[in-house]
Amino acid sequence: MNYVSTRDKSVKVSAAKAIAQGISTEGGLFVPDTFPTLSVADFEALIKMNYIERAKFVLSQFLNDFSEDEVDYCVKGAYTGSFDNEQPAPISLINKNANILELWHGPTCAFKDLALQLLPYLLTTSAKKVNDGKKTVILVATSGDTGKAALEGFKDVPDTEILVFYPSEGVSPMQKLQMDSQKGENVHVCAIKGNFDDAQTGVKKIFTDNAVKEKLAENNMLFSSANSINWGRLAPQIVYYVSAYCDLLEREPECVKDGFNIVVPTGNFGNILAAYYAKKMGVPVNRLICASNANNVLTDFIKTGTYDRNRNFYTTISPSMDILISSNLERMLFELSGNNDKEVAALQDSLSKNGTFTVSDEIKTKMGELFWAGCCDDKATLETIGKYFDEYSYLCDTHTAVAMNVYEQYVNTTGDDRPTVIASTASPYKFAKSVLSAVSGKTGDSEFDTVRVLSEETNTEIPEPIKALENAKVRFKELCEKDDMLSAVYGALGI
Ligand SMILES: *Cc1c(COP(=O)(O)O)cnc(C)c1O
Repeated sequence: MNYVSTRDKSVKVSAAKAIAQGISTEGGLFVPDTFPTLSVADFEALIKMNYIERAKFVLSQFLNDFSEDEVDYCVKGAYTGSFDNEQPAPISLINKNANILELWHGPTCAFKDLALQLLPYLLTTSAKKVNDGKKTVILVATSGDTGKAALEGFKDVPDTEILVFYPSEGVSPMQKLQMDSQKGENVHVCAIKGNFDDAQTGVKKIFTDNAVKEKLAENNMLFSSANSINWGRLAPQIVYYVSAYCDLLEREPECVKDGFNIVVPTGNFGNILAAYYAKKMGVPVNRLICASNANNVLTDFIKTGTYDRNRNFYTTISPSMDILISSNLERMLFELSGNNDKEVAALQDSLSKNGTFTVSDEIKTKMGELFWAGCCDDKATLETIGKYFDEYSYLCDTHTAVAMNVYEQYVNTTGDDRPTVIASTASPYKFAKSVLSAVSGKTGDSEFDTVRVLSEETNTEIPEPIKALENAKVRFKELCEKDDMLSAVYGALGI
């Protein structure tokens, strides 16, 4: 297996190269040119394994130029002792069909940890193979959760520097504090005046600028990405969908014989794409349900075949999904077009020039067969949190609530009562203010007061990483114009 660029299939690289480089030079994203499939016997073996063993099994199929020892070192390093639960991705069954896949038991309380605890291992192992001694500089644009998870994953990792940009008004107070108080010698954090798309566009521009690349090279440095455009982010996410299927099989094989659905609260399309890849590998997924908040560009796209980012941008209570340019959709388009790099390049070109594209009827039809899409606004999000707490005593965060709401819409529209896995992407304590008001109508005086009241009202535990933040010292206070991101990069690197 090799990795090809979605915009030029003649660009063919190994897994290590794809991960070390992050993005292809002409702007395309790396995807495997063939996909491994899992047999019935494989699943029987996987069921008996723990999460670390399952991860090794699945990932080794994608890491073509990693040795068995290297995969073992990476996976064990990532998942040993870093999650508050022996099982990093446990399932909570809240009613007959709704299986909540809790992906927030890691050090930053969001699903990004599943990938970003592993990525530094994958990246440094890859860099040793292909980058002959250069220092890797990680640039991150974040809507809140990626930034912190990447900082935690990369802090003090030798031969790396990490620089995170976040929209100053676009993240929750807890997310902001999590990032601004980050410890580590190789970490840098900068708020920008703009929204997430500005941050992401700025980072992509710096990445693909040849003059910048040369300047880094002169200083024996090289860029890579910890955003979900990096294949090393996506591969670890496939694992938890395979693992969730194994857990369902183990619990009640009969109930998944006609397949099951997966609902994912979606922003950059990385998490739901990983669920699609799990399906492609043989996990019997019926429908992939794409849930959006008021920034419903994907809902419209899946329903109409036209992607149009020329619309209002809303700042919502589920900020990690406040995105109008879903980068990983590009990989899905590559799939749906039958690996047609020219077609993908033309669509992406139209997106960057006009902010919109319309796919062929063929792609639209295939998309409609695989996906179902829905969205919900802040009011419905809060009602959903309240409802699930009242009815099932299950406390969920704002992002997960969007998924639960859209799942209800799906069931009401289609009548499909198959078992369903709902990806729960963050701890409710990361968005305590919204969650508290949803379950009790109360508000706290300060952020941490709110956290305590939420714990008392709901009789749930405050996660340790959130508790520890209360006394954390703010280290980063920089705020830069969106056009000054490059100087912030040079400043942080001292070049
Ligand atoms: C990042 C994030 C999402 C969106 O995931 P994508 O892979 O970008 O679609 C949803 N919920 C939370 C809590 C997140 O941090």
